[in-house]
Amino acid sequence: MLIGIDLGTTNSLAAVFRDGAPQLVPNALGHVLTPSAVSAGDGDAMIVGLAARERLSTHPLRTATAFKRWMGTDHLVQLGDRSFRPEELSALVLRSLKADAESFLGEPVHEAVITVPAYFNQAQRQATKTAGELAGLRVERLLNEPTAAGLAYGLQERSDHSTFLVVDLGGGTFDVSVLEYFDGVVQVRASAGDTRLGGEDFAGVLERLFVQRSELPPSEAIRRSGALWRVAEQAKRELSDRHEALMRLVHEERVYEATVTRADFEQAAGELVQRLRRPIERALMDARLQAGELGEVVLVGGATRMPIVRQTIARLFQRLPLRTINPDETIARGAAIQAALKSRDAAVDEIVLTDVMPYSLGVIVSERINGRQVSDRFSPIIERNNPVPISRVGNYCSVADNQRVLKLDIRQGESPIGSENLHLGLLEIELTPKPAGEADVDVRFTYDANGLLVVDVRETSTGRTVNTVIRQNDALDETQVRDALARLEALKVHPRDEQRNRYLLERAKRLYEERLGDERAAIQHWIGQFELALDSQDRRVVDEAAEQFEKALASLDHGFVY
Ligand code: AMP
Repeated sequence: MLIGIDLGTTNSLAAVFRDGAPQLVPNALGHVLTPSAVSAGDGDAMIVGLAARERLSTHPLRTATAFKRWMGTDHLVQLGDRSFRPEELSALVLRSLKADAESFLGEPVHEAVITVPAYFNQAQRQATKTAGELAGLRVERLLNEPTAAGLAYGLQERSDHSTFLVVDLGGGTFDVSVLEYFDGVVQVRASAGDTRLGGEDFAGVLERLFVQRSELPPSEAIRRSGALWRVAEQAKRELSDRHEALMRLVHEERVYEATVTRADFEQAAGELVQRLRRPIERALMDARLQAGELGEVVLVGGATRMPIVRQTIARLFQRLPLRTINPDETIARGAAIQAALKSRDAAVDEIVLTDVMPYSLGVIVSERINGRQVSDRFSPIIERNNPVPISRVGNYCSVADNQRVLKLDIRQGESPIGSENLHLGLLEIELTPKPAGEADVDVRFTYDANGLLVVDVRETSTGRTVNTVIRQNDALDETQVRDALARLEALKVHPRDEQRNRYLLERAKRLYEERLGDERAAIQHWIGQFELALDSQDRRVVDEAAEQFEKALASLDHGFVY
């Protein structure tokens, strides 16, 4: 069975295509959003999802979130005394989604379509594939997130030649893409974004407003505990539905309170709202489109629930953006549609997807300018925002008399200075000795939808060829993948049916830390009662106690999925 997965920075989701439509897979807690969070428990135990997210405040040094940002790098994330590669942490999240899908479907799941941001480079894409492999999933395809959003909104069912602008404001990033549907082909025409703008920044604005108004003393302990963030996050969500929110925090036996109106919030967030414009303008410019020429504007990502974001987009385009699908779920639904396409579900008509290259690929050259040789110039062979798969040829010649070898330094990026772009690989070809400028080679770059780059070099005079497939330096090789698999196998992840209990206990511990006096005593009592029920090992008793425990906790705390 093939499933669709949105492996997000904040939350991840799985979806399957059943009975002619995408369906979201609930996790053990009955939620469709699983926080992309991992925490190291005692011994070899690992905690994944909402229970791990709860531990961010109680066990900050053992808990990791937002590791998607490190994908494709060698950065190691330290959890207690162990360290993990970002693809290993992602694999733990994927495994949990796989188990949820298997329980939902009642059959094993071995394959997945996983979505990635359109701007993900080769290393990041490769790391995502490896994460799938480590989770026991064959990654049938990596699908660009905006393309998934377009599929969820039925771009492919529109009249021919329609364009969509996908605006995705998630927890930590802002992505804008122009999609085009033409002649049965869906294509990302352009993508732009701001990797430092997201819903979290808006919560930050509310944190500052609250501190100013409630006169909460600056304290590292409060900041580290995440309690202030939680109050701000809750208020931000309330302000999406109401015009006013009461923010309240208990610190050192004192209650700090402030009321914030939606107007106050929107005014204070003015600068963030302004930053939404630039990437939109750049994506339109790259796609050579005017705002008025767009067919639809689609909103994706939880943070587009904020009215100010919707209004700003509506004003920019003089029309109401589409958001009939829950913005957190759109990408996972699109991934399930793509999975159905792959498995040729009869309910989905054949459509062809193409994506664009998110960045330029080329080589470093030395050029003669005004009679002088200038080195370290970047010569793009495939330019950014071209549809993939793509194959392009560049022709390069020798710079010295009787030059014996030509060294190709292959780079990715947008800087005119070659060395400022990301180094992907080196390839050497022998040249037939000739005067400078007369020995020449054709360099062909072929880039496929899964982000593999094949470089073929051919000396034109002799037809001699060399080629290479570029794999990122920091991608894991086969032995490393095998080692990582063995390491992950040794870890104990709580079975699905224990996850709810684990989450309730972690949430109670976090609340205990946040509260004082009578509330603490009550939480202590509830924990004791629940532990007694767990000891009984009687399923009915445990279920009943869990329900009571959850209600009791909810009387103190909203317990949203972040
Ligand atoms: P995503 O990465 O799509 O899951 O988006 C997560 C972001 O959406 C987080 O910053 C959340 O705070 C934000 N978010 C979720 N629900 C709401 C809401 N009702 N109002 C405002 N922001 C929200």
